[in-house]
Amino acid sequence: MKKKKSALVLFSGGQDSTTCLFWALKNFSSVRTLCFTYGQRHSEEVKIAKALAEEVGVPFQMLDASIISQLSVNSLTADIKMDEEKPADSYPNTFVPGRNLLFLTFAAVVARSHGIFDIVTGVSEADYSGYPDCRHTFILSANAALNLAMDEQFTVHTPLMWLNKAEEWGMADDLGVFDFVRNKTLTCYNGIVADGCGNCPACKLRKHGLDTYLTYKSEKK
Ligand code: ZN
Repeated sequence: MKKKKSALVLFSGGQDSTTCLFWALKNFSSVRTLCFTYGQRHSEEVKIAKALAEEVGVPFQMLDASIISQLSVNSLTADIKMDEEKPADSYPNTFVPGRNLLFLTFAAVVARSHGIFDIVTGVSEADYSGYPDCRHTFILSANAALNLAMDEQFTVHTPLMWLNKAEEWGMADDLGVFDFVRNKTLTCYNGIVADGCGNCPACKLRKHGLDTYLTYKSEKK
């Protein structure tokens, strides 16, 4: 891809959005980050995101999206136990209805205010939980809606859309930031950086992907 001007990365300091940040730095000549705060279980997440953006040297903007915690009860914003597994007939209670639609809308308005029309988000269809607002069709539809709503030509980029977690580690490695992503990002629902607590669903998913990738890499040698 030819380097385009600027991109706005939806950034939380986790594995996914940090990998996306480095992908954007490779593909765009300037990049800024936008981090939503919405009463996450661990405000540590926001501090880590800010520190990572500073370390990478990209502008970091926070946006208070705490209205999201007033809209519905879920385990990311309220002190209730997280579902370990996806229930057969519904989404896990880490699902925040409408979150990505709201976030993309906020992001597009913020991006536009900076003269930016490329938005990067780390959603993936391979996500274990299958959140409906992480799917490709949703992103295409939201992209079209944003264009119509503001009479602009936004492009929502989803570099992780078709990657499983092992392939995502491969992307970080290809981008030369494997150690950075492994040692500095926060994915754990219990707020522990790098390899995390090892027990929460996010840690298990991350570890499974990492182990798969490392096995693949060692066999390739
Ligand atoms: Zn954990």
